[in-house]
Amino acid sequence: MAGWKDYIRRVEPYTPGEQPKQSNIIKLNTNENPYGPSPVVCQVRENMDDLRLYPDPSAGMLVESLARYHGVDADQVFVGVGSDDVLAMAFLTFFNSDKAVLFPDISYSFYPVWAELFRIPYEKQPLDASFRLVKEDYYKENGGVVFPNPNAPTGIYEPLDFIEDILQHNPDSVVIIDEAYIDFAGESALSLLADHDNLLVVRTFSKSRSMAGLRIGYAIGNPELILAMNDVKYSYNSYTMNRPSLILGTKVLEDEAYFQSVIRKIITTREWFGNRLKELGFTFPESGSNFIFATHKTVPARELFDAAKEHGIYIRYFDQPRIDNYLRITIGTDEEMQRLVDFFEEYLK
Ligand code: PMP
Repeated sequence: MAGWKDYIRRVEPYTPGEQPKQSNIIKLNTNENPYGPSPVVCQVRENMDDLRLYPDPSAGMLVESLARYHGVDADQVFVGVGSDDVLAMAFLTFFNSDKAVLFPDISYSFYPVWAELFRIPYEKQPLDASFRLVKEDYYKENGGVVFPNPNAPTGIYEPLDFIEDILQHNPDSVVIIDEAYIDFAGESALSLLADHDNLLVVRTFSKSRSMAGLRIGYAIGNPELILAMNDVKYSYNSYTMNRPSLILGTKVLEDEAYFQSVIRKIITTREWFGNRLKELGFTFPESGSNFIFATHKTVPARELFDAAKEHGIYIRYFDQPRIDNYLRITIGTDEEMQRLVDFFEEYLK
């Protein structure tokens, strides 16, 4: 065999949810927002001639707008190509010791992939029987801590005193809180930044702001953390954020009313849909996100997943220990959720 084959970096990649090509399906498998982004994006008249120019490598206009929006300084904000890019840069920047990075066994499945790719040692910490994080597991010596709040795919939100406890026990590690779904839950860990210089909060425009297609994510932390992340980013690819994303991302931050109304609609739908699921014999932990992680008392998840797909409704199934009898169902419009309820009702008869 040719020698160069020995030098290829072999990795087991992250598997994203299916993006089917057909248009006549109900897509509840990748936690996208069923509503469009704020209509203010239509007011933007991008000068196409400007596309010949490189974008601002510092993503200045979006960084400034996010800083103003969150009431922090611009040097506390890092912007990247979706929170996946922001998290990858954070792993590369902060998880740089021989000690294991800690994250839950049931969590965002990209974390072990980045750890493998960047050769970062890691140790998964088991969630308890009701899928809660066990805070004492994060008291030991480590090379960093990362978890989503609310967690994915469970949807469970941990209150701020839980996060604060983890921060207090980890003064020597960077603690990354991945808040991809926080807008559907409760208080953000941003309020803890003032007292914890080791905290990095990561956010995205993909879920609550209905902009998964633009790829905008950001992190907020103390200026020293942000500077270190930017140094790594500029050592890798300076122009990560394209011009349209910078302009449209900045624009939607002006429309708070629309943003709040979409979140309210999704939470309302989540509540009635959850009640219907219970009536149909499903159980699930209380969700603080735009999805519900449910199991049925008699019918296997895999079977329901296949049958729903056959029926044109895509939900998410994870063939993984501990969660292989669960379905992760994104909250769509009322009409879409009604169609799924009707399908379950018929199927479970
Ligand atoms: N974190 C979590 C917990 C997620 O579920 C996702 C969505 N796959 C992301 C981060 C990444 O989202 P994006 O790159 O679209 O911002």
